[in-house]
Amino acid sequence: MPLLIGKTRGGEDWTPTFAESVDSEKCIGCGRCYKACSRQVLGPTDIEDEENYTSRMVMDIVEPDNCIGCAGCGVTCPKNCFSFITLEI
Ligand code: SF4
Ligand code: SF4
Repeated sequence: MPLLIGKTRGGEDWTPTFAESVDSEKCIGCGRCYKACSRQVLGPTDIEDEENYTSRMVMDIVEPDNCIGCAGCGVTCPKNCFSFITLEI
């Protein structure tokens, strides 16, 4: 199946890469990706550490269908937390 491919303003082919997952083990909850995303795809969530009775905030993908595949979140992330996918049409 062919990949979903767009065009740049200059007419070159461009393949969107959509945010697929955030590695909660690596995420430090800095929020850079949240600020970078113009599509409200991302949102904070708390994960519990039951052994130590603590919780910490990490980023999650809350509205995946809003993603336009710009990969800006991954560019801003200092911990390389994001995985991306292309789409078949
Ligand atoms: S790829 Fe772009 S639109 Fe999708 S979550 Fe990341 S910053 Fe938002
Ligand atoms: S930029 Fe990376 S480390 Fe910071 S909140 Fe987003 S996913 Fe987590």
